[in-house]
Amino acid sequence: MSWFKRKDQKFKDPKKKSVPDGLWDKCPSCTEILYRPEMEKNLSVCHHCDHHFRVAPDLYVDLLIDAGTETHLFKNLESKDFLKFKAGKKYKDQIIAAKNKTGEKDAIRVYEGKINGKTAILAIMNFRFIGGSMGSVVGEAVSRGIQKAGELKVPFLLVCASGGARMQEGAISLMQLAKTSTQLAKFAKNGGLYIPILTDPTTGGVTASYGMLGDVILAEPGALIGFAGPRVIKQTIGQDLPKGFQRSEFLLEKGFIDHIVSRSEMKEKITTLISLLT
Ligand SMILES: [Zn+2]
Repeated sequence: MSWFKRKDQKFKDPKKKSVPDGLWDKCPSCTEILYRPEMEKNLSVCHHCDHHFRVAPDLYVDLLIDAGTETHLFKNLESKDFLKFKAGKKYKDQIIAAKNKTGEKDAIRVYEGKINGKTAILAIMNFRFIGGSMGSVVGEAVSRGIQKAGELKVPFLLVCASGGARMQEGAISLMQLAKTSTQLAKFAKNGGLYIPILTDPTTGGVTASYGMLGDVILAEPGALIGFAGPRVIKQTIGQDLPKGFQRSEFLLEKGFIDHIVSRSEMKEKITTLISLLT
């Protein structure tokens, strides 16, 4: 046995924390080990550093809508494989896998419900469904949600979480930018209040359309928000990017968003905005 071979023996970094299976999570921000049930009780926010974990739509339903007042709208919208698209996987199979993984029909849910007693339409995106990508269903659900809010003359809120347009639907996914933006323009003209809530991550086509078209734009702390990813920008401009680039705090400083709101304060903030602006 030659002494210089280290095939089996691995270096151990004493600072590196290993994560036991099941009930524990490691915070990607501060690397503390978190007891999952406790962290979930804290709205999936790290109690050491306030890192906001990505969460499923259920959390926002419970967090924002008064218990028992919600009606799930447009439940029957389902994605179609218009182009018979296939890259690594068939798009058709990707849809089936995403449905099985999340129990959802697509990357968005729309509700009518009350927020501290005031009726509103609330849409919530789901990043776990093909990266929260915006295809025909997301575009249609957002458009119908805006129309419904217009009919009822109530605010429209949208919790964004998206990797961008769903490229598996080609040009049809890109049309959703125009479609949703047109609806929002009409809604705004008639005096409607629209508040997007940007969560980690909100990128690509969603940032390029309804993510940035709010009357007041809210964001969760530390959320990645941008159009193209930092690597693409860095390659294009040939320069290093500033620290914290494309995070909520950076965008607040540059005036792209209006408020950073912790999950625990989200409902109160929205209630205040609604009563001030309607
Ligand atoms: Zn943390």
